[in-house]
Amino acid sequence: MGGLDDLYQQLILDHYRNRRGRGRIEDPSASVHENNPVCGDECFLDILVEDGRIADIRADGDGCSISQAAASMLTEAARGRDLDDALALVEHFRLVMHGDAEPDEELLGDAVALEGVARYPVRVKCALLSWLALRDCIAEYRETTAMGG
Ligand code: ZN
Repeated sequence: MGGLDDLYQQLILDHYRNRRGRGRIEDPSASVHENNPVCGDECFLDILVEDGRIADIRADGDGCSISQAAASMLTEAARGRDLDDALALVEHFRLVMHGDAEPDEELLGDAVALEGVARYPVRVKCALLSWLALRDCIAEYRETTAMGG
């Protein structure tokens, strides 16, 4: 297991140092700002929805390496998915973080590297921050589009 843990550690550090999908979307379909006061992590999440799919997703903010790496991995895993797919992805990740599901590597992509975080309850919130932000972002998008007709 040492080898796999090392590999996952490297992946997490790589995403932390070189964040994918970092920044903001100028004219997003939906946007949320969430924070994790326990650790001081902050996440701004923007999505651009086109034809029912996440055409673009950007995460900004600061915090610990787990929270920032998780946000980076999220943007890669969620981009291009339709909204129900993206919600299923978030739910799977949530179950993995709570130790209630075996990680599906194909679905999660690099985020599979975070599976070890499930052993550290304090860190679970860090990993989930941006992922649950996406869930809220999609809910907000659906509310506003339902209202707009
Ligand atoms: Zn944190």
